[in-house]
Amino acid sequence: MAAAESDREVPSALCTEFLNFSAKDTASKWLQVTDLYKEVYQHLARYVPKIYCLGPNLNPQSEDLLAQLLLQAPLEWYLCGEDPSTGLAKLEQNNQPSQLCGHVFRVGEPTYSCRECAADPTCVLCMQCFLGSVHKEHRYRMTTSGGGGFCDCGDTEAWKKGPYCQKHEPNISDSCQEDPLAHLSTDMIARCYNVFAIVLKYAVDMLTWDKEDELPPGLEPPDRGDTYYCMLFNDEVHTYEQVIYTLQKAVNCTQKEAVSFATTVDRDGRKSVRFGDFAFCEQAKSVIVRNTSRQSKPLRVQVMHSSVVAHQCFALKALHWLGHVIGYSDALRRILCQVGLERGPEGENSSLVDTLMLCDSKMWKGARNVYHQLFMSSLLMDLKYKKLFAIQFAKARMLITEENLMTTIIRTFVDHLRHRDLQGRFQFERYTAQQAFKFRRVQSLIGDLKYVLISRPTEWSDQLREKFLEGLDTFLELFKCMQGMDPVVRQVGQHIEMEPEWEAAFTLQMKLTHIISMMQEWCATDERVLIEAYKKCLTALTHCHSGFTDGEQPITLSMCGHSVDTIRYCVSQEKVSIHLPVSRLLAGLHVLLSKMEVAYRFPEQLPLSELSPPMLIEHPLRCLVLCAQVHAGMWRRNGFSLVNQIYYYHNVKCRVEMFDKDLIMLQAGASMMDPNHFLMIVLSRFELYHIFSSADCRKSYNRENTNKDVVQQNNTLIEEMLHLIMMVVGERFEAGVGQVEGCDEIKREIIHQLCIRPMAHSELVKALPENENKETGMERVIDSVASFKKPGVTGRGLYELRPECAKQFNLYFHHYSRADQSKAEEAQRKLKRQNGEDMALPPPMLPPFSPLFASLVNILQCDVLLGMLGAVLQWAVEPSGGHWSESMLQRVLHLIGMGLLEEQQQLKNSSEDHDVSFNFTLKISRPGEAPSNTASVLALLENLQNAPHLEVHKDMIRWILKMVASIKTMRELTASTYTVTASGSHGQEEMVCDKDKAERKRKAEMARLRREKIMAQMSEMQRHFINENKELFQQSLEELYASASTSTSLEHSPTSSDAALVCVGPRRSRPREKRQVVTCILCQEEQEIRADSKAMVLAAFVQRSTVMSKNRKRPPHDPEHYDPLFMHPDLSFGTHTGSCGHIMHSHCWQRYFEAVQAKEQRRQQRLRVHTSYDVGNGEFLCPLCECLSNTVIPLLPGAKGSNSCEQPGLGQWLKISGQQIKAMHSAHRKLQPVGVDAVEETVEEQCPAPESFRIDYTPMSPYSSTIKEMLTTFGTATYKVGLKVHPNEQDPRVPIMCWGSCAYTIQSIERLLVDEEKPLFGSLPCRQDDCLSSLARFGSACWTAASQPSVQGHYIRLVAALIPDPQVETSPCILDIDMLHLLVSVVLSYGSVHSQDSSGLSVDAVQLHFFHIITVAHMVQMLLTSGPEEVTMEQESGGAEREEEEDICALYNTLRTHLGSSLPEVASGWHLWRCVKTGILPYLRGAALFFHHLNGVPTPPELHALCPGQWEVLCGYLSLPSNLLQLYHSQKELLEPLLYGWCSHPGVRQTLQGGGVLVSFPRESNSLIDLPDDYSALINQASSFTCPKSGGDKSRAPTLCLVCGSMLCSQSYCCQTELDGEDVGACTAHTFACGAGVGIFLRVRESQVLFLSGKTKGCFYAPPYLDDYGETDQGLRRGNPLHLCRQRYRKIQKLWRQHSVTEEIGHAQEANQTLVGIDWQHL
Ligand SMILES: [Zn+2]
Ligand SMILES: [Zn+2]
Ligand SMILES: [Zn+2]
Ligand SMILES: [Zn+2]
Ligand SMILES: [Zn+2]
Ligand SMILES: [Zn+2]
Ligand SMILES: [Zn+2]
Repeated sequence: MAAAESDREVPSALCTEFLNFSAKDTASKWLQVTDLYKEVYQHLARYVPKIYCLGPNLNPQSEDLLAQLLLQAPLEWYLCGEDPSTGLAKLEQNNQPSQLCGHVFRVGEPTYSCRECAADPTCVLCMQCFLGSVHKEHRYRMTTSGGGGFCDCGDTEAWKKGPYCQKHEPNISDSCQEDPLAHLSTDMIARCYNVFAIVLKYAVDMLTWDKEDELPPGLEPPDRGDTYYCMLFNDEVHTYEQVIYTLQKAVNCTQKEAVSFATTVDRDGRKSVRFGDFAFCEQAKSVIVRNTSRQSKPLRVQVMHSSVVAHQCFALKALHWLGHVIGYSDALRRILCQVGLERGPEGENSSLVDTLMLCDSKMWKGARNVYHQLFMSSLLMDLKYKKLFAIQFAKARMLITEENLMTTIIRTFVDHLRHRDLQGRFQFERYTAQQAFKFRRVQSLIGDLKYVLISRPTEWSDQLREKFLEGLDTFLELFKCMQGMDPVVRQVGQHIEMEPEWEAAFTLQMKLTHIISMMQEWCATDERVLIEAYKKCLTALTHCHSGFTDGEQPITLSMCGHSVDTIRYCVSQEKVSIHLPVSRLLAGLHVLLSKMEVAYRFPEQLPLSELSPPMLIEHPLRCLVLCAQVHAGMWRRNGFSLVNQIYYYHNVKCRVEMFDKDLIMLQAGASMMDPNHFLMIVLSRFELYHIFSSADCRKSYNRENTNKDVVQQNNTLIEEMLHLIMMVVGERFEAGVGQVEGCDEIKREIIHQLCIRPMAHSELVKALPENENKETGMERVIDSVASFKKPGVTGRGLYELRPECAKQFNLYFHHYSRADQSKAEEAQRKLKRQNGEDMALPPPMLPPFSPLFASLVNILQCDVLLGMLGAVLQWAVEPSGGHWSESMLQRVLHLIGMGLLEEQQQLKNSSEDHDVSFNFTLKISRPGEAPSNTASVLALLENLQNAPHLEVHKDMIRWILKMVASIKTMRELTASTYTVTASGSHGQEEMVCDKDKAERKRKAEMARLRREKIMAQMSEMQRHFINENKELFQQSLEELYASASTSTSLEHSPTSSDAALVCVGPRRSRPREKRQVVTCILCQEEQEIRADSKAMVLAAFVQRSTVMSKNRKRPPHDPEHYDPLFMHPDLSFGTHTGSCGHIMHSHCWQRYFEAVQAKEQRRQQRLRVHTSYDVGNGEFLCPLCECLSNTVIPLLPGAKGSNSCEQPGLGQWLKISGQQIKAMHSAHRKLQPVGVDAVEETVEEQCPAPESFRIDYTPMSPYSSTIKEMLTTFGTATYKVGLKVHPNEQDPRVPIMCWGSCAYTIQSIERLLVDEEKPLFGSLPCRQDDCLSSLARFGSACWTAASQPSVQGHYIRLVAALIPDPQVETSPCILDIDMLHLLVSVVLSYGSVHSQDSSGLSVDAVQLHFFHIITVAHMVQMLLTSGPEEVTMEQESGGAEREEEEDICALYNTLRTHLGSSLPEVASGWHLWRCVKTGILPYLRGAALFFHHLNGVPTPPELHALCPGQWEVLCGYLSLPSNLLQLYHSQKELLEPLLYGWCSHPGVRQTLQGGGVLVSFPRESNSLIDLPDDYSALINQASSFTCPKSGGDKSRAPTLCLVCGSMLCSQSYCCQTELDGEDVGACTAHTFACGAGVGIFLRVRESQVLFLSGKTKGCFYAPPYLDDYGETDQGLRRGNPLHLCRQRYRKIQKLWRQHSVTEEIGHAQEANQTLVGIDWQHL
């Protein structure tokens, strides 16, 4: 390994040379020489390879140090002509800071653009500038930067208003800009110029250098060794995994190293993966190439000589250095700009800046970043050069004139698409994946074009016109290649074999959409340009058609006395294409002719005579017919590719330059044709001509066809054709087509969207076309058509249509899909019904056409149309065999309505002298001509009015007949006296209406009264129900549902008994004996809960929890050896048990679970589908509510009340207990191997156990076999989950875990009640009550399923923590014990001892004694931990609590005598008492919950509300004196020794002196972290977050833990760690450390909440941030400002606090199966 050796040698060899080097001397030598360039290059050639790239592992620190010393220092000396530390400081003094902010954005940093003032959407501000700008109050858009852009603050061209923020506002004093070079001496300028020129040239040379083994002239190293690097470059083809896999093979590295290589390659664009001699590197290269060349182009690898790599490294360093140096002075910056933009020897485009930009794509990413950064700190910070630079770099139209960029871009683009058919059209199906990839890169060229066109010119120069039109020419060349591309032919017989490629063409179309629109907008700003463009476009279209019409024979059509010549062409038989960009551009320009009135002002300049209307409409018509035929099911065999194309043709992203323009072209063509001719051609293209043309089409059509499919198809085609006619006549909202304002169109779109249903802002945005600035124009008009309704905790804000806008509703709105149409129809009819109006949905009033399109209205009254209308009506009169459809009739009625409205409008607007020639009423009153002599349209309608099968259309027919009557009156009146016309006719119409209305109103009123009566009855019933089930109603509906099948006995209702209720001790109230009967949700059988009957179980979910943790830093315990008997008061880990409350027989559940298991096994074998639950881990979904569960809790009967005879007092009981424990000690010892401590045993014998304690007696379990089995099941599950171990029902820790879970669950529920401000009792959902009862009862019974000695052993150790026991060696000190856990465990374990006692000692008495002692211990615990009093809180109480204060001082002083100076002196008892009272409350409440559920004692009504006096009631219920200190003082002599024992534990002193975790009471509930109000603050925070593992790199997916506030680098290889032998992402790893397996995160870049549970489960959840429209922005795509919604954040917090996150994930995964497949563990 030669490489390794040289690595060690080099530094020492260089040492002497370096020591002798002087930067000053070198610089002065340079000042003397004539050819500085050569001299510096020689210097670099000598030193660079000695500093950089000396071995496999680079050493950046020493490299940088040496480079500074040997390379940069002499340059700086030369530059300054003196010691650079003084020289640069001098320069800095004269520095004028730039008025441009120029802040360069980090990846993910927030950027702001003002939607009102930005010159274009690329103008952005950094957060700081934005906050200090006027735009903060404007409508702004927020985005996250992809990195590399810069802040435009200070650039007056970027902003229409407010270009400066407060910070960059120019001072008036220095407004007279002086030349920055004025401060420098000419010498200095010259030197500066020299250095910059050489260094920049050197850097450019090296970075653009592409030879692997040679260096540019002048840089050849004096001696070169055989040292090479194998350099791997990134590409966009290979995946991370492929690279990692290949590297492991090629260079023999570990997976970790390979990951690190791949990460660097991805970040920097290249990375050396091997160092050594040439052959060594070449070998690695060939392996990599071989391994990656199979499916695609191989990975790029180069074997480069180390000196080349060294110089490239230094070249980057040199650019950094330039950036650093110009930071000292604006003068230096100016010089560097000059150097960079100076034209090189090769003439145009040969400056150093040009060279870099031209080679941009060849450079690796790291190099690009460095030079971009230099550009931004130099060129873009100098106002003068920013403009100059813009010419080079692309800004605004200057480019078009001076660089002819448009032409260049399109030519390049067209050149790239090489595959063409015979007509020169693109053929995308011939492209391979590799080429398709290239195609994507080419598309970015289009992006550049968009950038060029984005700001429209206000003034045109002749040169600009010329260049623009030249660009348009090239553009038309491109369009010609697209016109008619991807043609389709209808497939008959069999289905197509392969779906043809269609996406490429549509991608191209979508990319071009905005460009095409923008070009039209450019044309709209100059008449001359428009006229020329129109001519060019027409020529292009004619050219396209010359190739088209070949072979199409001419035919003559005639109908209703008209005839027309056309060609024979059938869409269903010949080629048809959906791509017609030339026609569509012409359509767009044609509308502009009308809109700009060019058509009227300069008709002579337009080639109008050359237009052939039939030619114009031909292809758009074919395309529309294609859509209709696809609709009619005629193209089913052509597969999905066609369906997709039709979908996109109408889609909002494409329709503006596709469907809309085709319709306009039809309108343009039809307006220039005889309407009869137009309609006949339409009929012919729809292949319906034969149906309507026959002499008596009204009848014969029915009999001809018997093929049902064909009839069905024709029906649909007729419907579609009628719809098309409506659109041609009725779509007048495009400015230029109709006489409308710009905003009328958007208003109409919004109205029609809202006619479907109320919509959120984002839904509307999605339904409306966006322009290139992503603006829809909606904000300008929305308030005039809709009102906004704010969102609640869920859902989002909605816009609702203003009622007065509903009359503009058009059922046949051209942008409705069929689904939209029927939804809108339903909604509008419903609305009419509610308002008591008639159900007709007549067409709305329309604006008049522009003159150019005015003749279109004649379509309505032309003979061919009337013939068609008559035919359909006739079919409706005599329906037979389904050869007719109601939608057909509905459309005909609509068309008739349009005709009538048109006539009415024209009559109203006509002036006296002008006769209205549009006479629709006359035409429809006329009967058909001979020979058929058919009935008139009107007669047919009157006929239909009474047809029983047309009930639905009656209102519409009535509306039509009324209209006819009113128009006739109008005409008569006009004939007599014009002046009264309008009002008169109106009046009559209204009279008819009024009568009708009155009747309707009466009916509506009656209906309303009926409704109200029913509502009143219902609410009465509801009130009744609520009163009866008050508790139930405090739950959410969901909980209600969940609890539907729980136990029906209302055991929690307060009893009416007068005696105060007591839940513990000998005086405890006895619950009424009653049978508890429950129903199994699986078999529906009822079952009584009894110890000896079949087991009933509750579905339950056990999980580890850190929700209440006060110490997230406690290291996780070793599960195998951890002793969980005592819980530390920091509650760092706990086990929570929850339940949905659903009850089953244990055998029903077992059968269900086995079935689920079997099903899963089969499914996994077959499909490898995942489920939301892990059966292998015992998980299942509750069969009723699908709630995630992982075990079941058996239901047990409550404790029996014992007859309490005289019970021993504390002293006596302590004695008995001590004897019992001793007896147990000796009994247990006998069980162990003999001979350990024989001596002690004899001591033991001297104190025999009391007679009544039968230590050898083994009690019988009172439970049935199934209950016993379930006791084991739940115990084992809790043990397994709680400790994260394998199940082992024999483990002595099983009961401990169950008691712990009971205590922990009680504590967490107690906290929840406090947080939710709910009373202690009566407010819990039944499911939680049931869960707590069964947990407590289970806890007291679980010893029966375990070994009695081991449970007794636990009991002994628990008691020893309170009452010193010399035989128990290690007890924790009382500061390390959570008292509620201790209370629960000791009470629940006592059962195992009591079972052997026959003295009549009652369990109640023992519970109370333990409770009292532990309560005292807790008070002592608090006194020891209460902080020093706050002086300001000093307060004398009124005397009511005087006694308590004195007592507590006494107790405290006793403690001080034991502990001495460890406890501070306290003067006031008030403070102590206050601390203890508030601190102990959670414990007392927990104890009350515990004893209530354990003993089944009813709860006092006072605790069902949040009223004062709770303390006394609570103490009473717990059998405690309300002065808790009495517990101590009344038994002082007995408790004093215990107190002494607690205090003398070495742990107490140690902890108090800071040696342990000190928890103070009360423990506050944990909250999720505080979030900022403005979301951009979070984005900003995340953007400065760097990956903790890859040294200062930006993280791609910064993710915030909402529990502890840690920021993580998620979803990235760099931060994967190992967890239980598996690689997991940062979030999953953190989930285990911070949340014991449950995690709540905010993905900052996505604005999305992430829930994780374990390694395999997760879901996304709506973030608590909303925009002003009450919507979230998941994915941050819309960019509206986002603010924190506290209500929603509280909701997330509640899910967390109530341990429902995992359940939420389960529900989300059940609802959305794709969530199951996500690799959550890698997040
Ligand atoms: Zn800025
Ligand atoms: Zn600024
Ligand atoms: Zn603004
Ligand atoms: Zn059952
Ligand atoms: Zn359930
Ligand atoms: Zn955390
Ligand atoms: Zn990372």
